[in-house]
Amino acid sequence: MSGFSRWSARLFDWFVPDTCLACRRPRHGLAAPFGLCRACHGRVVAVPAASCATCARPLTGDAGPAPRRCGRCLVTPPPFARLRVLWYYQPPLDAVIAGLKFERLDYLGAELAAAAAAHLAGEAARWDLVAPVPLHWRRRLARGFNQAERIASPLAARLGVPFATPLRRRRPTRPQVSLPRDERLRGPRAAFSLRQRAQVGGLRVLLVDDVFTTGSTLAAAARALCGGGATVEAFALAATPEQASARRE
Ligand SMILES: [Zn+2]
Ligand SMILES: [Zn+2]
Repeated sequence: MSGFSRWSARLFDWFVPDTCLACRRPRHGLAAPFGLCRACHGRVVAVPAASCATCARPLTGDAGPAPRRCGRCLVTPPPFARLRVLWYYQPPLDAVIAGLKFERLDYLGAELAAAAAAHLAGEAARWDLVAPVPLHWRRRLARGFNQAERIASPLAARLGVPFATPLRRRRPTRPQVSLPRDERLRGPRAAFSLRQRAQVGGLRVLLVDDVFTTGSTLAAAARALCGGGATVEAFALAATPEQASARRE
């Protein structure tokens, strides 16, 4: 390393110290994945195996045949056949996702996708396509990227499954009161639609988002894919614990 690059590396460290994304303490050789220190990384909470197959709520009672679903999903099944969630969206992982979304920490998408691929590796044959939940183009323009795509694209590469962006997000819908009566009765216009040239008929799609909160976003996106003849399974890095315990939509 030349004198200048050593000097500039030091300057970089001084301005951008290597601190943990969650506790903000220097990592000093205690670096762990996702921009965390080892202690914080150890506090990432995994979604237990005994969870509903389509909403990740914890399940209680006797183990039935897999895939197991909660009462709510049995009564009103979501448009995706299965949901995989790795972690709970709570400290310290919320800071990691914020880093991915708002701090433009490019390396996080690849690291999170690598962890996701390790969990999903044995199942890659289930999908023909990996697709992210899109942002509305205005939000994407403002942010510069779509965080779901930053996870979905490297995940697809690691799984060896083609990646595509078949969906687009429509404009935010008008308030219910200003809608014509028939739309008011049918509910708001679908939030997602297929891109004009998207061909998803007969494809098994893994639909990827960063966080699963109420599930309504993933459901709306999945509905648009199903409308084009695809079958959908969903994947999110994290689910909100409130959602997991007592969800209300
Ligand atoms: Zn930490
Ligand atoms: Zn459920």
